[in-house]
Amino acid sequence: MSSLFPALAATATGTDRIALRFGERSLTYGQLRGAAGALALRIGGAERVALWAGPTLETAVGVVAALLAGVPVVPLNPRTGDRELAHIVADSGPSAVLAAPDDRLPAALAPLRRIDITVTGTAGELPPEPAAESPALIVYTSGTTGPPKGAVLPRRAVAASLDALRDAWQWGSDDVLVHALPLFHVHGLILGVLGPLRRGGEVRHLGHFGPEGVARELGSGGTMLFGVPTMYHRLAEALDGDAELTKALSGARLLVSGSAALPLPDHARIAEATGRRVIERYGMTETLMNTSVRIDGEARPGTVGVPLRGVELRLVEEDGTEIAAHDGETIGEIQVRGDNLFTEYLNRPDATAAAFDGDWFRTGDMAVREPDGYVRIVGRKSTDLIKSGGYKIGAGEIENVLLDHPAVREAAVTGEPDADLGERVVAWIVAADPADPPSAEELTAHVASQLAPHKRPRTVRFLDVLPRNDMGKIMKRVLHG
Ligand code: ATP
Ligand code: MG
Repeated sequence: MSSLFPALAATATGTDRIALRFGERSLTYGQLRGAAGALALRIGGAERVALWAGPTLETAVGVVAALLAGVPVVPLNPRTGDRELAHIVADSGPSAVLAAPDDRLPAALAPLRRIDITVTGTAGELPPEPAAESPALIVYTSGTTGPPKGAVLPRRAVAASLDALRDAWQWGSDDVLVHALPLFHVHGLILGVLGPLRRGGEVRHLGHFGPEGVARELGSGGTMLFGVPTMYHRLAEALDGDAELTKALSGARLLVSGSAALPLPDHARIAEATGRRVIERYGMTETLMNTSVRIDGEARPGTVGVPLRGVELRLVEEDGTEIAAHDGETIGEIQVRGDNLFTEYLNRPDATAAAFDGDWFRTGDMAVREPDGYVRIVGRKSTDLIKSGGYKIGAGEIENVLLDHPAVREAAVTGEPDADLGERVVAWIVAADPADPPSAEELTAHVASQLAPHKRPRTVRFLDVLPRNDMGKIMKRVLHG
């Protein structure tokens, strides 16, 4: 396989171009090659390394160094609680941990050899490129539906997925990515850091997300923004009356949302204010990216676009029947195959076997395919598909309608066992004004006015906030306790 990072080769032209910028600190491709190459020599020999992955320049240098050294790297979320961290360390068995010199590491990491990441250095010859099937990263899933599992991602998958995105987004070396995501998952680390570096472009990380930073960086040379729905929601709210942010978003080449569904009201507010459509892509830790709205295609809100180049996608009914490609209305589980797939869950042959049907990976996500191939995700099989009175109901559609009600700030819909219906639709609501919440009757009438009668919530519960994980995903399993 050719190099993961052609722009870091000794002979690469343009080595004085900026590769990474984190606030005031930046590295050119030449400097990154020096720093990461020198660090790769110090990592060398280790069988597997953990990476204390705060939103820092050190994290970016650390992951590149491990990839250059051919040592599989396990990114760790610095906000993970001690118990979960201890589980991940025991499960993945790293012999060392990479950390910034001023990072304070928790007790769970004390037994590991510490390797400080320095962001200066000079490298001689880089180690030879490892085999395509060798593991590049072990990334733990977000833990939205259960304890996180370690997905073993080979170099082949990283290269294939990033190149498929180049094709879909015309992603090139001139692109400057404005980045404010955490760096321990696929979205922030693989797409957000490795993506631009593979293209020879620039990463500008804000440290922490805020509309001001997005406006500043997109307004001064940034060309693309990657975000999760909670970020686009905050941008949509901030747009009102903010001319600088409006201008910055209007001028961006690409606004991409992923990791969870972007609610329709946020799509609409951003499009109205800026004339730009946020495009959605759909991926998973295990598969990297599967589908996206293409830059040269129609951005259809509520869909995640079409399969990426090299990804085969099918929808399968519960009894195993494959749904015809142009069916247009039957809900089935998304299954995918292609070079973008992981090889296995670490130490979990049972879970790995259960996740595959031959070489097709069962995503656990349910969708409908529109006749022209656009994929419309209905939700997760385990938490978002409600079987009520003989109907299959997707939670997302009802959530979109609830969010459109002016008195609703946040909404989640789940199913609960019901003697009559099998399951009944339950709405969890955070009121826009907690002192003056809408009545349950008003909300159910609002849903009934827009959707079929069986989609009306039978129970409405009010909360102060919805439980969300670090990616802003709603933890529905917590709602039912
Ligand atoms: P766990 O597997 O541990 O329960 P998780 O599935 O949230 O957690 P990730 O691999 O980070 O962990 O997330 C992948 C999931 O995120 C997908 O299976 C899908 O449900 C959801 N997702 C990602 N992008 C989108 C999108 N654009 N629209 C809707 N859902 C999305
Ligand atoms: Mg998952």
